[in-house]
Amino acid sequence: MERTLAIIKPDSVKKNIIGKIIDRIEAEGFRIVEMRLVHLKAEEAMNFYAVHREKPFYADLVAFMSSGDSVVLLLERENAIVRWREVMGATDPAKAAPGTLRRLYGFSIERNAVHGSDARDTAAAEIGFFFKS
Ligand code: ATP
Ligand code: MG
Repeated sequence: MERTLAIIKPDSVKKNIIGKIIDRIEAEGFRIVEMRLVHLKAEEAMNFYAVHREKPFYADLVAFMSSGDSVVLLLERENAIVRWREVMGATDPAKAAPGTLRRLYGFSIERNAVHGSDARDTAAAEIGFFFKS
């Protein structure tokens, strides 16, 4: 069993589709170990996406991620990290495969509905960021 950190981003919460995304999470065989509604402060969003601090989109990304409520989820499944990235689809919704969450619900490369950890080490760090136990 493997664990990953998922976020239902502020664009999805504003669109009232938390339930649709959680429905998909459950249908894909993930167990929700922990889950919480959060409103990230700008400083928390900056820290969470610190790996992107040199990128031209960093300030906009931080503003977006702190613009409203998100849902953070600790998910467990066999091969959870790769599998959740497959369910999300490519970063840019226009390039994401049909049926993926970003293709279904993403608005732009920035407002792309959901987040998922990309590797074992980042998953551990991101889980620790939100779930202290
Ligand atoms: P995430 O880390 O959110 O799961 P990802 O791993 O697919 O997404 P990253 O390269 O880590 O993609 O980018 C982090 C986030 O930054 C993206 O999900 C998106 O919200 C935003 N982003 C990435 N690239 C761009 C871009 N070119 N322009 C605007 N925003 C971007
Ligand atoms: Mg990423």
